[in-house]
Amino acid sequence: MTDSVDVAVVGAGPYGLSVAAHLSAAGVNYRQFGSPMKLWREMMPKGMYLKSQGFASNLSDPRGEKTLEAFCAATGREYKYYGLPVSLANFTAYGAWFQEQLGLAVEETLVTSISREDGGFALSAGTEQLRARKVVLAVGVEHFAYLPGIFAALPKELCGHASAYPDLSTPFKGRRVIVVGAGNSALETAALLHEGGADTEILVRGGTVKWNGLPLAPDRPFFQRLREPEAGLGSGWSTWFYSNHPELFRRLPEKTRIYRSRTALGPAGASWLRERVEGVLPVRLNHPVTAAVADGGQVKLTVDAAGAAKEFTADHVICGTGYRWDLKKLPFLDSNIKSAARTVGGGGLVSASYESSVPGLYIVGPVVAPSMGPVMRFVFGAEHAATTVGRQLAGVNRPAVPTVAAGR
Ligand SMILES: Cc1cc2nc3c(=O)[nH]c(=O)nc-3n(C[C@H](O)[C@H](O)[C@H](O)COP(=O)(O)OP(=O)(O)OC[C@H]3O[C@@H](n4cnc5c(N)ncnc54)[C@H](O)[C@@H]3O)c2cc1C
Repeated sequence: MTDSVDVAVVGAGPYGLSVAAHLSAAGVNYRQFGSPMKLWREMMPKGMYLKSQGFASNLSDPRGEKTLEAFCAATGREYKYYGLPVSLANFTAYGAWFQEQLGLAVEETLVTSISREDGGFALSAGTEQLRARKVVLAVGVEHFAYLPGIFAALPKELCGHASAYPDLSTPFKGRRVIVVGAGNSALETAALLHEGGADTEILVRGGTVKWNGLPLAPDRPFFQRLREPEAGLGSGWSTWFYSNHPELFRRLPEKTRIYRSRTALGPAGASWLRERVEGVLPVRLNHPVTAAVADGGQVKLTVDAAGAAKEFTADHVICGTGYRWDLKKLPFLDSNIKSAARTVGGGGLVSASYESSVPGLYIVGPVVAPSMGPVMRFVFGAEHAATTVGRQLAGVNRPAVPTVAAGR
């Protein structure tokens, strides 16, 4: 028998859980699929810290009660609104607590196909077929890990994307590892490798590594705060705008949106990471890798160092080369949906209520950054997305007033 629901939520990371919290509170008939907080539990290295501040690392529930701060208070963990890095372990535990506190039932099954049927959708989830009037896609970044072509042919034992290494100490102790990239993920991967006893080196394509400055004191003088306001994604007026007004970002010209969604808050190391990298392990700037070959159980990299070819050898190479979203690459969307879904900069083009050009298909999270802005790449954007989608699917027609705009 085929089950029917009003809404199927596909994904159970910060965005999916937040959407579910709003649907559940509104009494919407929904089912949710996915592996709760999988990216954070399985695809990030133990010992990692979040780059986002405590106040910007909340999942969203309609009452605003199940915050990271409330979790830390309830479980006796240290918390600071600002200035104390949030550990991966605490954030992952927070996700589980949020789910448990709100009684969110997640079915730990992958959705393997979504197609259009009778004005709604047909989904396959594990061995089950179901129908849903609406679908919310909250599948995050795992389908979009980007490994540059020169590395893609190397065997997994020798090279992989940074998301493939939940443990950077035991397997690499005493081995020589090269990390490629200069974003926070590459830099933190290198720091953790080094601290775990690996002989580590970082190769950077460009001429600099950017580091975020120290957090600004929340109680600094009024005029300083006016000149450089602090917001969920960092400080400054443009960052304040991206953080608080995805609905206005949507109205910017398409070219600007594509450019800003990719480049705003681009690769940079967290301030607290700097002392663990700079002067501690070799960081080779202007070292673009031009070739990579497997050679007797090792990897040989050729680098174009100011016009001169240089060779590097390592036991393993880890690419901190980020994610490139492309809605049409999602393997479980059928061709009918893929051809009807309009995209912008590879991401899903969505309306102010996060509905795609396929009626009834809503998309939230990083893959709609070119529509709603860079905030969608961060946990902080879950408040706007979940509040808006929750109201829409609960049939509340008042315009959404996400509390993110009020700086909660
Ligand atoms: C190394 C790293 C560090 C980061 N640090 C920060 C940070 O400090 N602060 C911050 O704000 N952001 C950070 N981010 C960004 C982070 O990815 C996003 O903020 C957030 O995870 C997006 O949440 P999401 O719910 O959209 O996706 P995800 O957390 O990626 O969750 C995706 C969900 O979709 C499910 N799923 C996927 N495919 C299917 C399918 N076919 N069927 C069913 N379920 C499916 C998965 O099981 C999972 O539950 C970081 C990202 C990385 C990679």
